[in-house]
Amino acid sequence: MKKKIKVGIIGGGQLGMMLAKASKRLNIIPLIYSNTKDSPAAKVAKVYYGDFDDIKKIKEFINQVDIVTYEFENIPTKSLKIIEQLVPIFPPVHALKITQDRIKEKKFFNDNDIPYVKTLILKKNLDLQIIKKEISFPSIIKTARLGYDGKGQYTINNYSDLLKSWNMLDKANCVIEEKINIKKEISIIGARTINGDIKIFPSFKNIHKNHILDITRLPSRTNKKTENLATEYTIKILNKLKYVGVLCVEFFIDSSDNLIANEMAPRVHNSGHITIEACKTSQFEQHLRAITNKTLGKVSIIRPAVMKNLIGNDISKINLIKTKKEFSNFKKANLHNYYKKEIKPGRKMGHITFI
Ligand code: ADP
Ligand code: MG
Repeated sequence: MKKKIKVGIIGGGQLGMMLAKASKRLNIIPLIYSNTKDSPAAKVAKVYYGDFDDIKKIKEFINQVDIVTYEFENIPTKSLKIIEQLVPIFPPVHALKITQDRIKEKKFFNDNDIPYVKTLILKKNLDLQIIKKEISFPSIIKTARLGYDGKGQYTINNYSDLLKSWNMLDKANCVIEEKINIKKEISIIGARTINGDIKIFPSFKNIHKNHILDITRLPSRTNKKTENLATEYTIKILNKLKYVGVLCVEFFIDSSDNLIANEMAPRVHNSGHITIEACKTSQFEQHLRAITNKTLGKVSIIRPAVMKNLIGNDISKINLIKTKKEFSNFKKANLHNYYKKEIKPGRKMGHITFI
């Protein structure tokens, strides 16, 4: 019998939980590193507790695994350095560093001819002189680092909004993006193995509410030309980054049908939860296959589906949500509860996939 591979997963949230679940089909033993007790992943895997910057704990954790992956991007640099020295970590840290920082990410898009949102960079007071001349309104100001689910970003309608928002963001390094007139948002999830094999899922259609993903649909019903272009860009990104694992690229399609890259996530992605029911291989299994250099699974759609995030109080209104007209065409509703202790506004508590 083949030796089981031990995969360390940094982060014990719902993504870690679903990765751990998928690992069981692949002869992989998952071990989670989490900074909180009662993390969603604790329901399905052994959890190692420690702060993300506790080098001693991180080292102890790493000693117990063959390779490391992660479910969130904001791992402290000093911890990454240690991990990198001791054990293979996928996706590669150079890719993580680009996606951790919106300024680096835009530069990467720029250097690789991937169309992206018109962006101004705000790091210091002096930058405001140029920004004042070049900015158009409305725009969106976003912190370069540590933002997620719309946190750390504000829509700005005039120059005084900009100053106020930047102050609220503690004058952190920011990008200021033109506000796109969005017709549709899609995401593309692709996987690349250590050998360089690539598989790209069909695009997902995403609907956001208050800058947080609310609904994902598959198929996305995107026109062939745009779908092919988004796929082509994703393949290019995977190769340029010599990427290993699953990567998600979020795109806007504007009112003139231009495809514009928004951001990348070097990990399994909320929009990809739909693959559990809707595709031959789930994004979680695909990620684990890629980082352990197994043959990638097929990505074709086996049934149409729609995924509804349960955000905050939604988790106590499941029956009401199930009866909504927009989901009435579906026969079955699969509930994925993340078993988070406390309901908070904006917190992802679970999701339902209608098939
Ligand atoms: P996060 O890291 O929080 O996901 P995003 O940059 O993806 O941040 O922004 C979240 C959502 O906010 C997007 O999916 C989109 O709906 C909206 N948004 C972000 N940037 C823009 C923009 N430049 N123009 C229009 N809408 C935007
Ligand atoms: Mg996003």
